[in-house]
Amino acid sequence: MQQSNQKQASLLPDTALRVQVLVPYPVAHVYDYIVPEGMVLSVGDYVKVSLGKKDTVGVVWSLAEDKKLDPARLKSVQQKYDCPPMPKIQRQFIEWVARYTMADMGSVLKMSVSVPDVFQPPKPPQAYILPDTLPDTLPDKISVPRQKILDFLSDAVPRRAAEIVRQVGCSASVIRAMAVAGQLKSVPLLIPAPCRITEVPKNTLVFSESQRQAADSLIQLVAAKKYDAALLDGVTGAGKTEVYFEAVAEALRQGRQVLILLPEISLSAQFLDRFNRRFGIAPAIWHSEVSQAKRRRTWLGVAEGKTKVIVGARSALFLPYADLGLIIVDEEHDASYKQEEGVLYHARDMAIVRASLGNIPIVLVSATPALETMHNVKQEKYRYLHLPSRHAGAAMPEMHVIDLKTTPTGRGLFLSPTLQQALKETFAAREQSLLFLNRRGYAPLTLCRTCGYRFQCPSCSAWLVEHRHYARMQCHHCGYSHKIPKSCPECATEDSLASCGPGVERIQEEVQALIPEARTLILASDIVTSQKMISDAVHQIEERKVDIIIGTQIIAKGHHFPSLTCVGVVDADLGLAGGDLRAGERTFQLLHQVSGRAGRGEKPGHVYIQTYMPELSVICALAANDRDKFLEAEAREREKAGLPPYGRLAALIISGKDEVKLDLFCRTLAQKAPRFDDVRILGPVSAPMAFLRGKHRRRFLVKTGKSVALQKLLAEWLSSVKVPGAFQLKIDIDPQSFN
Ligand code: ADP
Ligand code: ZN
Repeated sequence: MQQSNQKQASLLPDTALRVQVLVPYPVAHVYDYIVPEGMVLSVGDYVKVSLGKKDTVGVVWSLAEDKKLDPARLKSVQQKYDCPPMPKIQRQFIEWVARYTMADMGSVLKMSVSVPDVFQPPKPPQAYILPDTLPDTLPDKISVPRQKILDFLSDAVPRRAAEIVRQVGCSASVIRAMAVAGQLKSVPLLIPAPCRITEVPKNTLVFSESQRQAADSLIQLVAAKKYDAALLDGVTGAGKTEVYFEAVAEALRQGRQVLILLPEISLSAQFLDRFNRRFGIAPAIWHSEVSQAKRRRTWLGVAEGKTKVIVGARSALFLPYADLGLIIVDEEHDASYKQEEGVLYHARDMAIVRASLGNIPIVLVSATPALETMHNVKQEKYRYLHLPSRHAGAAMPEMHVIDLKTTPTGRGLFLSPTLQQALKETFAAREQSLLFLNRRGYAPLTLCRTCGYRFQCPSCSAWLVEHRHYARMQCHHCGYSHKIPKSCPECATEDSLASCGPGVERIQEEVQALIPEARTLILASDIVTSQKMISDAVHQIEERKVDIIIGTQIIAKGHHFPSLTCVGVVDADLGLAGGDLRAGERTFQLLHQVSGRAGRGEKPGHVYIQTYMPELSVICALAANDRDKFLEAEAREREKAGLPPYGRLAALIISGKDEVKLDLFCRTLAQKAPRFDDVRILGPVSAPMAFLRGKHRRRFLVKTGKSVALQKLLAEWLSSVKVPGAFQLKIDIDPQSFN
């Protein structure tokens, strides 16, 4: 194939038409290809080209040719794919994201063409219908099952073999035999694009005054058909989802497409049910668990403009929308919007960019908006819409702070007497409780009481976490694991291993000892591993088959359990260790959200927060339910320190196996660091995760004023050194994780 291409190319004159094609590989530039005779290409077309020894899909990025390249050395475009070209806005978006994150354009393109099958001819499932004319050789008498099949298919609707078998009660072999004999015709079953909406049902809810006002503002925003951003702020249960559905409805009435971004774990059955109830149809779903066949249909449906509403995790932002008219970012403060592998981008921030490029409105939604978002509201970059109270007057839960210094837990136990009592009373009242601890497994550290040996990951600077559920010791960073041994691997003493600290499994054990009759359930990502398992668990809770839920952050979001009246935060201090600039803010968001699970029905809720630091501003703010005061205090701290949103940050993470050479390289990099006013470069230092998956890691932190061209500064600095091939250098603009 390749050879014939080259031969063909060498016969072409210098004036042969060429195109520049961007391929979905980590490359920053486009490649030139010859347009074979008879092929007509336009910018945006998806094409098949060969790259090295591989064939790949690519996108025609421009028709301009690079005159320096000898046409004899160029390959030809092999094929133009039969699907709508990538829209101009999408191409601009890819270029913008690449420039901002300093990632290769090809890597960003890869996120847009992440469904390899899309470009292959479809292999639709086969269905059967009656042939137009029956074969002459048909026997006079037809067996009973055959006659039943003919009758069943007489309505001319194509049906799959499995359905015929089910309905008629015949065997699959009869159908095959009839097809061979020409009595049935096999046809491809074309499954239409998901979520095609032509008519938008009317809202049937009676909105409160504030809900009505917010909904009207959003409808106006969408009706204006231009870029505008709004924050929809309101406590959990205020009806934010119902309100933004009105904006969705307005965009649908315009016949345009809508993207609703959600953190992946919130894509719950509950949300989908709600959507279904409002719009009478399921939205198209986009996240990592969706099957290839479904992705293919959705990608094409989006590209062709047939699929109207896409509900997805951050990657849905990169779909090639034919006519996107509105973006909603629900739980806009959520940390999972930042992609921490590959292209390091923040989906909320890039969604703002996408809306602005497309000249369409965007709505950010949260009960605990990010400090950056509130800052933009203050600067009047975003409109502000507020739902001040819970729907139908459901009260906010009562907060109780438990000081573990004065109310200690028993030895080897983690629930204080106050919380124990609350659990017992809630159980006696036949209501549900939730214990929140953001730590999977049984215990975060295991050591030998005899020799002090600690179980550590061989490839990471991390302890191994004991998981009794799987009977394994596991590293939460690289996945390394081994069986839980009976004796110490160092001194061989038997039964001398001690578990230190709690994980959710250990809390479950404590609860079972405390209230043996209570039915408990753990909700953690290593135990409920699929969306299906999560929704099954949610149903169990809804049907009140569970009394006490013990969960990590997967329980924090989006779920509404009317009988849940007691929430206990086992360790409020857990997220506050370490030097993360957002530690306080994140803790507030997470614990506020967890607290919001309590008392959403008619009965009032109680929240118990266990801490050793009751005087911390974040704990006080939670107790007083005073978010705005807390955010203002945080903002003043950040302003003093010149941190975002008052300054800019970027991180460089350099990793490699050879520690000595790595430090040497980092020193060279430090020597070449740019020196300007308003630019501070901190580092190199060992990263908090100094050793990860067998590689040593060093970090630089670049801190600049708001007006500094950060990307340009970094590009110039990095162009002064050559990164050795054995090392990896990652640039993280606006870092969220400081590991
Ligand atoms: P939020 O998104 O702010 O957490 P939701 O939109 O999920 O709030 O609303 C919480 C619950 O209250 C949902 O079950 C929702 O259907 C219901 N709800 C909200 N507003 C109304 C209303 N005006 N009439 C009836 N039910 C409502
Ligand atoms: Zn590890």
